[in-house]
Amino acid sequence: MKKPLLSAVLAAALLTGVAESGTACTNTGSFDRWLTQFKAEARKEGISPRAIAALDGVTIDQSVIGADRKQSVFSQSFLEFSDRMANKNRIAAGSGKIAKNKAIFQKIDEKWGVPAAVITAYWALETDFGANNGNQSTLRSLATLAYDCRRPEKFRAELMDALRIVERGDMPPEEMKGPWAGEMGQTQFVASIYLKYGVDFDGDGRVDLIRSVPDVLASSANYLNALGWRRGEPWLKEVRIPEHMDWAEADLNIEKPVSEWERKGVRIADGSKVPGSLPAALLLPMGKNGPAFLVFQNFKVFLEWNQSLVYCTTVAYLASRIDGAPAVTRGHAVGFGYEPTKELQTLLRGRGFYDGEVDGKLGLATRASVRKAQQKFGLPADAYPSPELIARLQSR
Ligand code: CA
Repeated sequence: MKKPLLSAVLAAALLTGVAESGTACTNTGSFDRWLTQFKAEARKEGISPRAIAALDGVTIDQSVIGADRKQSVFSQSFLEFSDRMANKNRIAAGSGKIAKNKAIFQKIDEKWGVPAAVITAYWALETDFGANNGNQSTLRSLATLAYDCRRPEKFRAELMDALRIVERGDMPPEEMKGPWAGEMGQTQFVASIYLKYGVDFDGDGRVDLIRSVPDVLASSANYLNALGWRRGEPWLKEVRIPEHMDWAEADLNIEKPVSEWERKGVRIADGSKVPGSLPAALLLPMGKNGPAFLVFQNFKVFLEWNQSLVYCTTVAYLASRIDGAPAVTRGHAVGFGYEPTKELQTLLRGRGFYDGEVDGKLGLATRASVRKAQQKFGLPADAYPSPELIARLQSR
């Protein structure tokens, strides 16, 4: 959900590198004075004194500022990440949750058209089905981040919406708990998303995304639907790819009908039937030597929820596994960690292929630069770094 970064729960499990955020702003003025002023602004925005009283006595949480300043870097490859997050236990647990909540998922499917496996994959990855919702006061975290000089506008709006959640009567303020960045509930909604897309699905008159499973599942479906989910269409399918093809076509921005991919020798791995006219992009998360997928229009919904491609590919893959797809063929691609990626970015910069930050993240911008370099050197342009590419970048 356009998060500032991964949820704290996920962060603990996955982040490997730690980098300074590079934003050296300084807080001036007392937190208490700021809070008094914020409360006055909340009044002006029409929030009731009763709801605003939720901020009485709230203090700044230095650990939140510390966590925010210490921007962790997510630098795992798709296979590293999915081995941990889409493992057998989670797949089995996910199937169990679907069986247990069958009637709810059926109603959700009728109303929003989002498959149980997709909702369950988010539920699994975000909080392990509600087992790790986070335990810090949401209002305190949001007030701290709204006061802090780094991104005050963004969090001011989130804090205002958190008060509106209190006002609506969804939860008493003391029950609003989550990770340090202020997300809430079993699929970790930020306050603005909670307010806008939260659904009371158990009919008790309140949207409770922390404790009510029906509310959590319906709200997640409502949000995915609003992001553009297409009922009945696939999201991701593993494929077999030919030994030789124009690797530059493996690009999320290049969509072709499935039938055209098939003409190029791409085959859906489990043999399932997909309409030939459906537009799809070829996704090679670790290049031509790694796993291969065709991704469909619905994959864009995953990219709206969270912009990390590795995260999105992993949720989509976990959803496909919960839905019955076999384990992916691993290939022999080698992951590029934090330090090697920084070295790669430095080399790409030095040769004029890259003008982004040297941040250790093998994201879309870095991969686009890798492709440019591969094309220049006449290497297979699959946008994934290889020892050959590094050698070419190093040689003058
Ligand atoms: Ca409810």
